[in-house]
Amino acid sequence: MNVATVTIDQIREGLSSREFSASELARQALQFAQAENPKTNALLTLSPERALASARRVDEQIAAGEPLGALAGVPVAVKDVIVTKDLRTTCGSKLLEHYIPPYDATAIVRLEQAGGVIIGKANCDEFAMGSSNENSAFGPVRNPLALDRVPGGSSGGPAASVAQGTAVVSLGSDTGGSIRQPASFCGIVGVTPTYGRVSRYGLTAFASSLDHIGPFARNVKDAATVLHVMAGRDPHDSTSAAAPVPDYAAMLDGKVAGMKIGLPKQYFQEVASETGDLVHKGVEALQKLGCEIREVSLPNTEHAIACYYIIATAEASSNLARFDGVRYTSRSTDSPTLIDMYRNTRGEGFGAECKRRIMLGTYVLSAGYYDAYYVKAQKVRALIARDFSEAFKQVDAIITPVSPFPAFKLGEKLNDPMQMYLSDIYTITGSLAGIPCMSVPCGNTADGLPVGMQILTKHFDEANMFRLAAAYEHTRQI
Ligand code: GLN
Repeated sequence: MNVATVTIDQIREGLSSREFSASELARQALQFAQAENPKTNALLTLSPERALASARRVDEQIAAGEPLGALAGVPVAVKDVIVTKDLRTTCGSKLLEHYIPPYDATAIVRLEQAGGVIIGKANCDEFAMGSSNENSAFGPVRNPLALDRVPGGSSGGPAASVAQGTAVVSLGSDTGGSIRQPASFCGIVGVTPTYGRVSRYGLTAFASSLDHIGPFARNVKDAATVLHVMAGRDPHDSTSAAAPVPDYAAMLDGKVAGMKIGLPKQYFQEVASETGDLVHKGVEALQKLGCEIREVSLPNTEHAIACYYIIATAEASSNLARFDGVRYTSRSTDSPTLIDMYRNTRGEGFGAECKRRIMLGTYVLSAGYYDAYYVKAQKVRALIARDFSEAFKQVDAIITPVSPFPAFKLGEKLNDPMQMYLSDIYTITGSLAGIPCMSVPCGNTADGLPVGMQILTKHFDEANMFRLAAAYEHTRQI
C-alpha cells in the first residue's frame, strides 16, 4: 500500500483483508506528511494525536466485527477555514495564528463519525480570498507537480496535499472557484456541491451567500463518497437543505448515453488554447459514449466578475468585522483608546488582499452607493442564475473550462489583482447560481501541467454530475 496514491476503496480492502490496520495507515500518512510537506507547505498543522485516536477507534470496530463507516481509516486534510475543536484553525491569517476553536464544524463531525482520520489542517489564502494561495500569512503553497508554480487558490493547501499524497482526500471551501480551480491546477477531482447541500456551520464566513464546503479526491468515486458523508440538513445552519442525499457513489453506473450536454458559446470564444483543446477533447469523449452535444447560451456571463466582486466583497466586509481584537485572538497591545485598538489590531492583522476587499465591500454597501452597486449586483446575479435555468431546460449538464490557463508561476500575477480576479471567469457563474459544479482532470498541456474540465448540473443534481464525470474518467483510464 502506497499512502501517496491509495484510494478509499483500496483502504477499505486493505482494512478488511487485514493487510494493514487503520493505525498503521495513519502513522504512515503522518510520517509521509512530515517528510514531504516542507516541499509544498500544503499543511500548516499536523494533528497526530487526533488522527491516531480516530484510527484506533476504527481498529477497535474491526476487531469487534462492527460495520465500518464509509471513510473508515481514510487520512483527510482540512482547509484551515473549517473549525476543528482543540485544533488550531488559522484561516491563513496572522490574526488567528493561535486560535483554538471550541467546537467542530458539522462537516468534520460527520467525517469523523464515518471513520475519517483527520491528519492536519491545510494552508489557504487568507480567509479564502485569492486564486493562487499566495495570500496566506504562512507563506504560499507550491504546486506539487511543478514546484515553481501555484497550486491555485484559495484551497491550494487541500488540493496540493491530495496531489502530493499527504492526504487521501481533503476538504476545501469554494466561494467563487476555490475548489474547482486548484483541483484543475493540481490534476485532481474537486467538487462544489449545490449551495446548502453541505452545512456551513463551522466554516469561517467569507461571503455567506456563496460559501460552500466540498471535497477534493484522486478520483470521482472518492469525491462522491466524501460528499455523501457530509451532505444533508443540519439544524445548526438554517441555509442547509433538507433535500434527500442519494448515495452518489452507488450511482456511477456509466449510463450517460442520451444525456444532453450544453457548451455555452460565451465560454469557448477565448480559449483557443491548449486548455480549450483539452476540454473539447473531453467533450468528444463523452460524445463517443452517446451524449448529445448542443450549444447553449449564458448571455450574462460577461457581467459575472463585476457582480461577484461586489457581492463577495460586500459580504466579506461585514463578515470580517468580527475580527476586532476583542474576540477570538491577537490584539494590538499598544493602543491608547478602544478605536486605536480596533484600528491597530485590524491594520496589523489583515493582509493586503483582505484589506482591499474590506474597503471595496464597505464602499459598495455605503449610503449612496448601495443601490448603484450592491442592489444592482444582486439583480445581475438573478439574471445569471436565470441563464442557467433556461439552459437546463434544454440540456442535462453544461461543460466549460475551469480556468483560462493552467497553473501559473509563483509571483506572476501577484501584483495585478485585476488579472487575478479575471482568471475566475469560468467558475464564478456557477457559484452565483448556487448550482453543483466540479472539476475533473482532462489531460495535460505540452509542459505537463494538468487541466480540468468543469461539469455543472441543476440544483441538487449532483448525481448526474458525478455520473458524467465518472464515465468520462473511465474513458481516460482505458
Ligand atoms: N478566487 C476567488 C476569490 O478570490 C474565489 C475564492 C473562493 O472561492 N474562496 O474571491
